[in-house]
Amino acid sequence: MEINFPKTMNKEELWQAILAQIQFQVSQANFATWFRNTKIAEIKNSQVIISVPNNFSKEWLENKYHKILLKIFYNLAPQIKEIKYVVGPLPTLEEKQPLPQKSKTSQLNLQELAIEKETGLNPRYQFENFVVGSFNELAHAAAWGVSEKPGLVYNPLFIYGGVGLGKTHLLQAIGNQVRKKSWQKRIKYITSEKFTSDMVMAIKNQDLETFKSKYREVDLLIIDDIQFLAGKEKTQEEFFHIFNVLYEQNKQIVLSSDRPPKAIAALEERLRSRFEGGMIADISLPDFETRMAILKVKTKERNISLEDEILEYIAENIKDNIRELEGALNQLAVCQKVNNKPLSFKEAQKLLKKMVMQPKRIATPKKVIQVVAEFYDLKEKELLNPSRRQEIVRPRQIAMYLLREELKCSYPLIGRKFGGKDHTTAIYATEKIKKELEKNENLFEEISLIKQRIYSE
Ligand code: ADP
Ligand code: MG
Repeated sequence: MEINFPKTMNKEELWQAILAQIQFQVSQANFATWFRNTKIAEIKNSQVIISVPNNFSKEWLENKYHKILLKIFYNLAPQIKEIKYVVGPLPTLEEKQPLPQKSKTSQLNLQELAIEKETGLNPRYQFENFVVGSFNELAHAAAWGVSEKPGLVYNPLFIYGGVGLGKTHLLQAIGNQVRKKSWQKRIKYITSEKFTSDMVMAIKNQDLETFKSKYREVDLLIIDDIQFLAGKEKTQEEFFHIFNVLYEQNKQIVLSSDRPPKAIAALEERLRSRFEGGMIADISLPDFETRMAILKVKTKERNISLEDEILEYIAENIKDNIRELEGALNQLAVCQKVNNKPLSFKEAQKLLKKMVMQPKRIATPKKVIQVVAEFYDLKEKELLNPSRRQEIVRPRQIAMYLLREELKCSYPLIGRKFGGKDHTTAIYATEKIKKELEKNENLFEEISLIKQRIYSE
């Protein structure tokens, strides 16, 4: 299928279309991190200039997303042959305001970014647009109960389930609902990763007290993806105290995780038993009918019209991740918009094949070593051989840490990989990096970047 960049599309609309495609190819977290506050600054003949908020994003787009961007531009606007990135001023308030109302599809891509700073709430996640089926019934009922009577029914509420199955949506819906009913209640939604990095920052600025008091004053505290607290002792410690203060005052706490509390390794026993003291509800996989219902809701929400046959095809083929279900829908919607005519079943099928067939990205030890070496500009051999040069020792420790934390390799195996070192060396390296991660924000950033590379190619 040919897709051409219609002459009528302006640069904002083109960027919208590009973002919609990007969103389909990168994780939600990466999308929000790297594409927030980006825009097309200028199009000059065959060159497009993209404005990014800081050097960090610039480097990352240049190194990591350049190829993908080129490809997408090639599809949507074949006249573009070159992309440049400049660090530009942040968009002014006006520009950040709602996107043009004329088309709903152009709005959907930046919805992720419409997050309220104070509360962390994103208005797109509501109970009204959350589809309930047997797979999430219990979690939904508990979430609803909590939003009706915060602090009084289940405390804490702990929701767990796999990726892309609606945990964040449900958690956010609780926050949004409580806010609708009683605007004076203080609500805070945060991911455990952000919580950790904010805390690290507060420690660095010697301002831990302000940080803590901010949390102790809320009426509803929602922490998403709590599994990332695993192994972060200092963060767990502070969180434990905040938890107790809130709990004792009957303030509501809501948590989510990709697994139940007892399956989170390196979670302090006292926290685990706190989590288990409330209500635990899981979300499993939606059946076909529910997947169809979700697609219908989303098409309505976004004013997309696609043949039922196409929707059924999506629902039949994407089974275990609602985010991917949506991604597929978005992709088709954008193509339809760009093409300016309804997609046929055949065209849709062809477009979706790529997505459906795409193998899941998995990390392997080989990949970890390759990415770490590349990140620090070393040869793989250098990383693996027993040199004591400082510029090698550290990347090597990071590689060991990642093999352990991300791939759960055994310590003896890690030792063997690195020039037959003893397993104690691997333990030492892992522990050292783990400890340092709690205090060193740069290292935290560095390792997040490495992880993204490991999982994103
Ligand atoms: P998780 O946090 O479990 O990874 P999310 O809450 O981010 O998943 O959900 C991924 C996407 O799927 C979101 O856009 C969300 O709105 C949508 N979604 C998930 N569950 C439902 C549901 N039951 N009804 C409607 N949309 C859903
Ligand atoms: Mg989530």
